[in-house]
Amino acid sequence: MSIRLRLTLLYSSILALTLVIFSLALYTILRQVVYNGLANDLVEDARTLVEARTALDGRGPSDTHGNPPARSPWGRRPAPRFGTPETFGQIINLDGSVVFASTNLEGVELPLSAQGWEAVKSGRAWREAVTVENQPLYIYSTPLISQGRITSVVQVARPASEQEGALGVLRGLLTLGTVLATLTAFGVGWVLAGAALRPINRLTQTARAIGAERNFDRRVEHSGPNDELGRLATTFNQMLGELQTAFHQTHQSLLAQRRFVADASHELRTPLTTIRGNLGLLQRQPPINTDDREAVLSDSVEETERLMRLVQSLLTLARADAGQAVRTELVAVQPTVEDVVRQTQRLAPDHRVSAEAIPDLVVLAERDMLKQTLLILLDNAVKFTPVGGAITVSAVAQGSNAAITVRDTGIGIAPEALPHIFTRFYRTDTARTGDGAGLGLSIAQSLVEAYHGAITVSSQVGQGSAFTIALPLAPVRATAD
Ligand code: ADP
Repeated sequence: MSIRLRLTLLYSSILALTLVIFSLALYTILRQVVYNGLANDLVEDARTLVEARTALDGRGPSDTHGNPPARSPWGRRPAPRFGTPETFGQIINLDGSVVFASTNLEGVELPLSAQGWEAVKSGRAWREAVTVENQPLYIYSTPLISQGRITSVVQVARPASEQEGALGVLRGLLTLGTVLATLTAFGVGWVLAGAALRPINRLTQTARAIGAERNFDRRVEHSGPNDELGRLATTFNQMLGELQTAFHQTHQSLLAQRRFVADASHELRTPLTTIRGNLGLLQRQPPINTDDREAVLSDSVEETERLMRLVQSLLTLARADAGQAVRTELVAVQPTVEDVVRQTQRLAPDHRVSAEAIPDLVVLAERDMLKQTLLILLDNAVKFTPVGGAITVSAVAQGSNAAITVRDTGIGIAPEALPHIFTRFYRTDTARTGDGAGLGLSIAQSLVEAYHGAITVSSQVGQGSAFTIALPLAPVRATAD
């Protein structure tokens, strides 16, 4: 069952219940009021009947209330007939046998209910509305007391058709009013509940449409007040905004991932194709000459090494991407820098590679990671600096970080290429012919960021580049090597 129907039914039922209780109370009070007048007349009639009987019996004054005897209408005139709008009278013994009945009763006996008997036997008067031979009657019964004992019961009755008719109309009106009011309340409640719940319906439709179309640009339109539903719509829209951002990011990273896989496959295929071609040459019959064989073998070894380097780079990147928990240690900057500078000097004797005076700095990182990062930067510096060019490594403390800079005097990087050099497999046009796969800087960046550091670059075409690694300084200056 829908909330709309439940709400409407709840409101209508509460209203119907209230109306029923109100109608019942009103009907009971009015019935009381209507019969009270008749009851007063009947009390008078009963007194008159008792007086008349007493006079006829010649027993002297004796009635329920001890009033003096008066002249009886029935003592002198013939009693009116049953069925006319007059009073009927009857006196019965305590065993129910009739002692006296007005002639207009024509043999019909006035009834007395069990409750009525109980009341009169305990000395109280009793009144009740009954139907005798399809005629509504209001009967007043009162005990007749003689010498302090209840001897018989006096009953007087009058037709109650008028009162019952009026009460019947009232009953009809109240029932009709209750039904109409309940139906109207149901109709109005249904419309109002529908209007109040409309934003929720829109919310449902929007959610359904988003699910079907995967379109997170959609928003719920709500122009109403900022009530509970207004706030729900706002919250829903905010959630959609966040979902949209998350969806966009996931989509972007999925695209990047696809690009990466495509680029990696391409890079791996190139050396493999070369090796495959070389193996084909070695298989030839008749065999190729010894010089060619030597050249093919050395070419294959070179390509295999390139392949291994590439696979190693991809592994390093994959590990960094997996966000594995990193192990940190205290790393003294100066000996590490001097180590890699020495290593580069050996590998590139034609360049002037040197370390500036390095202050005594200790960073929170990992020695191998720092060495690998610096080697990537120095390798690039050597690659893109002409023979004889100067390459220097320096380090300074910068706030809570140590900033280590590798500066070269090489070809520099064009401003339009600068934003892309940390992208995986990116190489500038000038570097495309080299043996790099465009992974060095992205590996350096991933490594440094894993240790809560950052890597930045500044460069001028024709003048050289400077790459700076910032790594957090150890909180307490400690000695490490
Ligand atoms: P690779 O491993 O191919 O060198 P990198 O990710 O290390 O790839 O570098 C990406 C690109 O950035 C290089 O292809 C090159 O064009 C440019 N680059 C990197 N370092 C330097 C530098 N010191 N001087 C000039 N260009 C550089």
